[in-house]
Amino acid sequence: MKKLLITIDGPAGAGKTTVSRALADRLGYRYIDTGALYRGVALAAQVRGIDPKNDHDLKMLCSGLDLNLVQHADGLGLCLDGEDISDRIRTPEITMLASAISAQPVVREFLLDLQKDLGKEKAAVFEGRDMGTVVFPEADVKFFLDASPGTRARRRYAEQKSKSSQTLDEVERDIQRRDRNDSTRDVAPLKPATDAIVIDSTEMKVDEVVDYMVSQIENQ
Ligand code: C5P
Repeated sequence: MKKLLITIDGPAGAGKTTVSRALADRLGYRYIDTGALYRGVALAAQVRGIDPKNDHDLKMLCSGLDLNLVQHADGLGLCLDGEDISDRIRTPEITMLASAISAQPVVREFLLDLQKDLGKEKAAVFEGRDMGTVVFPEADVKFFLDASPGTRARRRYAEQKSKSSQTLDEVERDIQRRDRNDSTRDVAPLKPATDAIVIDSTEMKVDEVVDYMVSQIENQ
């Protein structure tokens, strides 16, 4: 079968991670979580006390970064300078810092090459915000996964309840701030590619979304 490159973009809490993993499993493809890379840069900046608005320091930071996605039994993990940071990048603080840092062109440039490299062999599902618009405009099939703001907040809250003390209201507030940051930044703002298949998953189960995606891929 032809090896395809599939992209899934969309706002926080739309179900991209669950759906991307399930779709990659069904197709026997690799799953690449590009948000983890932005979170990794954010954690490195925090650890080294770098101001997320300081271009020069961010550039220096990126030029020496050793970030690697690694396959764990229960999903994809991330290593920074050889240390597994998969759990440390999932705190609410790093989530918001990743959103701030991802607006900086030096960070996006650094991660652009890394992501393009990961896509060379195709046979992959890439999840992010600008996969179909900027990183892989030539992707074979592009999806934009969305859901109502309330649904997204409830899904995110349920997912992180055991790990975080944030209330549903706090989760909803953070999601709204991230939506605003991610959609209004100058470089690579979150938006559907003109040729993306837009899916509203508000009333859909994970399997229904994946089935629909597979049917769209088979139609290509
Ligand atoms: O997908 P996730 O929630 O892990 O992403 C964290 C943050 O990284 C997002 O809020 C967004 O600001 C940034 N991001 C991005 N472009 C991507 C993936 C993530 O700007 N392709």
